[in-house]
Amino acid sequence: MKNYKIAILAGDGIGPEITAEAVKVLKVIEERNDVTFELLPAAFGACAYFESGSAFPHQTKAICDEADAILKGPIGLSHEDSKRIPIDEQPERGALLPLRRRYNTYANFRPVSLPKSLAHFSPLKAEVIGEGIDLVIVRELVGGLYFGEKEMGVNDAGLRYVRETLEYDESQIRQIMQQAFKLASKRRKLLHNIHKSNVLKSSVLWNEVMEEVAKDYPDVQVVNMLVDAAATALCLKPTQFDVMVMENMFGDILSDQGGGILGSLGLMPSACIGPDKAYYEPSHGSAPDIAGKNIANPYSMIGSVAMMLENSFDMEAEAKNVWAAMQGVFADGYSTADLSKPGSGVTMISTVEFGDKVVEKLRQMPKV
Ligand code: NAD
Repeated sequence: MKNYKIAILAGDGIGPEITAEAVKVLKVIEERNDVTFELLPAAFGACAYFESGSAFPHQTKAICDEADAILKGPIGLSHEDSKRIPIDEQPERGALLPLRRRYNTYANFRPVSLPKSLAHFSPLKAEVIGEGIDLVIVRELVGGLYFGEKEMGVNDAGLRYVRETLEYDESQIRQIMQQAFKLASKRRKLLHNIHKSNVLKSSVLWNEVMEEVAKDYPDVQVVNMLVDAAATALCLKPTQFDVMVMENMFGDILSDQGGGILGSLGLMPSACIGPDKAYYEPSHGSAPDIAGKNIANPYSMIGSVAMMLENSFDMEAEAKNVWAAMQGVFADGYSTADLSKPGSGVTMISTVEFGDKVVEKLRQMPKV
């Protein structure tokens, strides 16, 4: 019997609602396997700030340090409500970036996946989706503009100014490239390197290091693409992509576009992997516009559990069953509000009902 400790950071907005559904799935995984999960809930994000004055309190840090893996819900408030928190304690700056820095979770994997049978979820035409969208965005997660020096003030001319630094060293680029090439060599052996070297010197170094790493993976075909062109290509012909690698901010933006072409950010789970610790979170935010209504799509959170099972606990077969259970619910014609537009033929169910149906499907699957 294996025993794993999982820090549960439910977060803000829809976070607690979709986390509850993910926890239901973890309980069923325990029933079906020789494994126990010790769940360690901890406050993180705006809720933590209002409780304790810190968005990432010491106690939460201690729980995360102790855990074998971390399951994190989205954090953050609406644009207006964010102003209730001092700038440096606002959830991304006060909690999310420090979490990433603490565990050096430099490799962020964001699958963007939609089988042909679910093409009706997407705003793209069925012929654009063809046999289905199945790509992974590999995003560098602890460098670049988001982690560089930041300064705000008033300059000598009396004008307010801001300065933020985009910095990478070659080791940071090499380690994310190695992850991307490794993944590409296990999949279609096709890697799109997304950059902006016509403007940014950081991309010039990025591409140099990419070419050095590429020598170790001669069977992987590399296609270089400017980030602006990649944004268009994702809409016009997403099926040309398999693995895409990019720096932190490009990955933040293009992965939300990934959710857009699928039809909802609710379909976007992710894994954030460091050398010693990994955490798993939906790619999206706390969706304050739909929080508390029992209408959020928990697929992103349950998918993050599937990624945790595979990456942190070597439970690949059970992870596949979780994906299959969720696809099964869709195949039966159900989904949450985000994907059940009028006339789509999809029957709308709540967040809780979606979780219940996934659990029901999972229980019916042969044990591994
Ligand atoms: P968002 O991702 O929360 O929401 C964008 C749109 O997608 C909204 O219409 C929302 O209802 C919808 N959506 C998102 N997840 C959904 C789900 N699971 N099911 C159904 N619909 C879903 O982006 P936002 O509104 O710009 O940001 C809200 C807050 O989240 C902000 O405070 C932002 O800073 C924060 N944020 C946090 C993270 C994180 O925790 N990693 C990531 C992005 C944004």
